[in-house]
Amino acid sequence: MVVLASLGASPGFMPELPEVEVTRRQIERVLVGRTVADVRTTAPSYFFLTPPRELRARLLGRRVTRLERHGKYLIGHLDDGSRLLLHLGMTGQLVAAPAEPTRPAPARRAGPRSERRAVAFVGDQHTHLVLSFREPGPRLCFRDVRKFGKVAWIPKGAVSERLDKLGPDALRVTGKELFDATRSRSVPIKTVLLDQSVLAGVGNIYADEALFVAKIRSTRPANALSQRESDALVAALRKVLRRSIATGGSTISDFVRPDGSDGGYQDHHLVYGRAGEPCPRCGTPIRRVVLGGRSTHYCPHCQK
Ligand SMILES: [Zn+2]
Repeated sequence: MVVLASLGASPGFMPELPEVEVTRRQIERVLVGRTVADVRTTAPSYFFLTPPRELRARLLGRRVTRLERHGKYLIGHLDDGSRLLLHLGMTGQLVAAPAEPTRPAPARRAGPRSERRAVAFVGDQHTHLVLSFREPGPRLCFRDVRKFGKVAWIPKGAVSERLDKLGPDALRVTGKELFDATRSRSVPIKTVLLDQSVLAGVGNIYADEALFVAKIRSTRPANALSQRESDALVAALRKVLRRSIATGGSTISDFVRPDGSDGGYQDHHLVYGRAGEPCPRCGTPIRRVVLGGRSTHYCPHCQK
């Protein structure tokens, strides 16, 4: 696994839209159509926006009907109309674990790597939420070493402040919406891409990658973008996000897919983490600057 520090990423780095979507697709199979038979949690902490005791009572006996993603949030829809909100934070991992408690197998009996890793998650002090189900199959474990992840239960019909303040999902935002949102903003365009109230789900890596594909300099004032450039940027965002989802997300920090394997997209980064290496388009060395406290990579020749 790639270590956070070796990428030169700033503190505050977290899984972005592709990693959350990869997680959604994998745990959808574990959650949807199943009924919660047991809920285990660690002690109350800032990880639980809904206190553990209430969370246990609310989830018990509920069937998950759908698992949705908005930006970096996962939203489990429950059969009584309430919702379970999950956010991976910086180091959160949602993992499908064997149904019964399992001791780590002796090395000679160990299965494929993903199997061994799933076993290692069970019963860990950092596993803050474990859902077991009536139907046969794996449990769902939410493990988070740094506890910047979040779990909340939202009553039927209730508004979630966290979801309400998000802009459109980055895979669904239109060029016109981006253009309109930037008219009164003279901050760098990259800063706007990272603003979750404008569009939800983009973080440092994919902002750099999309700006490179769209040939737009990260530091350009947002209101200097034309409608055509806004369209190109939204198209570039979709392209890099979809490609990353298809390859399993980037492996950075502690992101591991729910089946225990590493994501593969970091091998395809065009500029992110490639300072000094030749631009894949023109060969000019990729430059790295710090913008708003975030490591920013661009080609000084291609990106205007
Ligand atoms: Zn270039």
